[in-house]
Amino acid sequence: VLRVSHANKTFRAFERKTTALNGVSFSVNAGETVALLGASGSGKSTLIRAICGLEVLDESSGNIHIGDEEIQASGKLSPNIRHIRSSVGVIFQQFNLVNQLDVITNVLVGLGSKKNIFQLLSRRFSSEEKALALDALEKVGMVDYAYQRASTLSGGQQQRVAIARALVKGSKLLLADEPVASLDPESARKVMELMVNLTKQFGLTLITSLHQVHIAKKCCDRTIALNKGNLVYDGKTSDLTKESLARLYGSQLGDIE
Ligand code: ATP
Ligand code: MG
Repeated sequence: VLRVSHANKTFRAFERKTTALNGVSFSVNAGETVALLGASGSGKSTLIRAICGLEVLDESSGNIHIGDEEIQASGKLSPNIRHIRSSVGVIFQQFNLVNQLDVITNVLVGLGSKKNIFQLLSRRFSSEEKALALDALEKVGMVDYAYQRASTLSGGQQQRVAIARALVKGSKLLLADEPVASLDPESARKVMELMVNLTKQFGLTLITSLHQVHIAKKCCDRTIALNKGNLVYDGKTSDLTKESLARLYGSQLGDIE
């Protein structure tokens, strides 16, 4: 489903050079649930942004493919990127929803790369489209909130709606950047479990960055770990021990638990 080959990314700001990704290569098969672990600043968000084409890699990079489609190669985005991006579900830590819109409209955003914000506001959706959105909301347990404003929802409820939007898009690949980082431990675990259950139920593929190792252990079959832009672990999450984590993160272990 996903192939990342030799991803390099260097940021230059105020004369300072940061290597955010250093020759990162891996591939992910359909149906896998992958946790992306790493201390703060290790390159997780940069990698996720590069996969969905929001970050252009260095010229010295290889390429990134989703299915047969090339996202980017040698530091150039594919001309097709908007089309490909519309098939990938992306969930961020925050700012997933348009606060002023109600829940169902936020889900319908997933259907409508053709529709602009004014069309969304004027609610020009067919009854079929609405039925799809309500169905997705049902699956994430949020159908009762369909006509409530997004701004009135709790963090966990907002993430559920963001998942519904990815479902309604028909995405095969879900990318999530610390989707549960802003939630309390109990809702974090619940939202992550829901995400993984839906992923498995619909045969999707999930790649999610996480700060909490225990949630990765509970929810994700495979772990990819980054340390200062280098891929330092790629294997079964169940094979990660406290010792191997300590080796990966060194003194920064406290940061990620
Ligand atoms: P966190 O867990 O804190 O979210 P992360 O693993 O997601 O961290 P990234 O956001 O990918 O880390 O950042 C990797 C490195 O690249 C960091 O050192 C960061 O400061 C740097 N970086 C990221 N984006 C930029 C940018 N736009 N300009 C300059 N440096 C950047
Ligand atoms: Mg990040």
